[in-house]
Amino acid sequence: MHALPAPRLLIAGQWVEAAGRATIPVVDPSEGEAFAKIARGDTADVDAAVAAAQRAMEGPWGRMSATQRGRILHRLSTLIEREAERLAHLEARDVGKPLSQARADAAACARYFEFYGAAADKVHGDTIPYQDGFAVMTWYEPHGVTGHIVPWNYPMQIIGRSVGAALAMGNACVVKPGEDASLTALVLGELATEAGLPEGVLNIVTGYGAEAGAALAVHPGVAHISFTGSVTTGALVQQAAGSNVIPVTLELGGKSPQLVFADADLEAALPFLVRAAIQNAGQTCSAGSRVLIERPIFDRVAGLIAERFKALRVGAALTDPDIGPIINEKQRAGIRAMVEAAQAAGAPLLAEGAIEPTSPGGGYYVRPALFGPVDPDSELAQREVFGPVLALIPFEDEADAIRIANGTDYGLVAGVWTRDGGRQMRLARRLKAGQVFVNNYGAGGGVELPFGGVGKSGHGREKGFEALYGFAHLKTVAVKYE
Ligand code: NAD
Repeated sequence: MHALPAPRLLIAGQWVEAAGRATIPVVDPSEGEAFAKIARGDTADVDAAVAAAQRAMEGPWGRMSATQRGRILHRLSTLIEREAERLAHLEARDVGKPLSQARADAAACARYFEFYGAAADKVHGDTIPYQDGFAVMTWYEPHGVTGHIVPWNYPMQIIGRSVGAALAMGNACVVKPGEDASLTALVLGELATEAGLPEGVLNIVTGYGAEAGAALAVHPGVAHISFTGSVTTGALVQQAAGSNVIPVTLELGGKSPQLVFADADLEAALPFLVRAAIQNAGQTCSAGSRVLIERPIFDRVAGLIAERFKALRVGAALTDPDIGPIINEKQRAGIRAMVEAAQAAGAPLLAEGAIEPTSPGGGYYVRPALFGPVDPDSELAQREVFGPVLALIPFEDEADAIRIANGTDYGLVAGVWTRDGGRQMRLARRLKAGQVFVNNYGAGGGVELPFGGVGKSGHGREKGFEALYGFAHLKTVAVKYE
């Protein structure tokens, strides 16, 4: 059994109880039972964390060279690798994530700190030709205190990508993990201290969104908010940040399409079409939850996907099934309601997977469901399910495919499967998405690849080198000399 972190907050380098001394039970979705507790931080704790981060910016961290910062992040990366098994087991229990997916998340988290550690001293400004007698240059400065509001579905990956980039640029962070999955954030806090991050540079306040999250979003001492989560909460966070006139990065949901043309390499496409829909039980912002199939091959492809759906096994996270449980009862009820509504509206249910008979009775399991042909204007084709539910939609030609693919409020990721080089480029241009994958589907992978949405999927980019610019502001310096 791997050691559980204590129900404490990390503020100014100290592990402290929440000011209100309250805690929140941590439920294992595979069993439906509490196995740990986290501290229930609120406004007073957020105030203390922001003050600690402000002090850290005034201290050695604010003067540290970018190279030094990068070395600390690199050490943190190697400590995450050292603790990968503990992190993966905690994440699997906390989120209900199949163990091999939790291991992949721990590896990705280490990779983020490695990547941003190496990038820290590579961000440089410019010189600008101006009038005679002037030297003009630009450089990048950290915002100051950055707030990071993290959801429950990929805690390690999302902390890695946003905190890694923010620290590389020299900010001091206050992190509010999702109340349903905070344990690995606390372990990352322990490791950051061991790596030598000065006190107050990384503060972690666990707690409810409406309490600690809302307090962080509206705090006048915070200079940038990075939010990942639902559209509804993202809009609230943007309003709160607007009251302090600070920038926000919003990584919200999606209804990402994969487009399969008749000339596609189906053998290559099939595993991606299924995996992108069911990874993390479909609780993935970039889930490929719509597959658009050219009419002449619709029945054949639908049949091949159906075979794979029927073989999917749902079970307890630590048994490493294809699909683990849903995070909590509320989310499970929402998924079931959408599946029932789709059936009531006449969408044909083509296949379902099975729940392992050994799965604990109290766990929040749902059977993966495949529907098709689905009306592109129906609720199932328009709304994010955030569960292992895939909608198959036929299309007539390229123009029809683009119209359907772009016909939702979202625009996060798109996948294109075709051997036609011209079509590959036309679609890459015309699809409304922050990432387009041709003959593959990234589903959030690749720390080097800038990621983010358009429309209701959000704005701003995280991941890759590009993200560093979001965690800094550009200063122009004009020197007049004789
Ligand atoms: P959520 O919006 O309810 O919660 C996200 C975070 O916001 C949590 O830490 C929560 O405590 C906090 N929060 C809740 N209310 C708040 C408030 N009033 N003020 C400030 N913070 C508040 O979302 P969720 O249920 O945790 O995650 C599911 C949703 O997130 C899905 O819609 C999914 O698509 C989206 N998501 C997007 C990405 C992405 O990268 N684009 C990644 C993961 C999840």
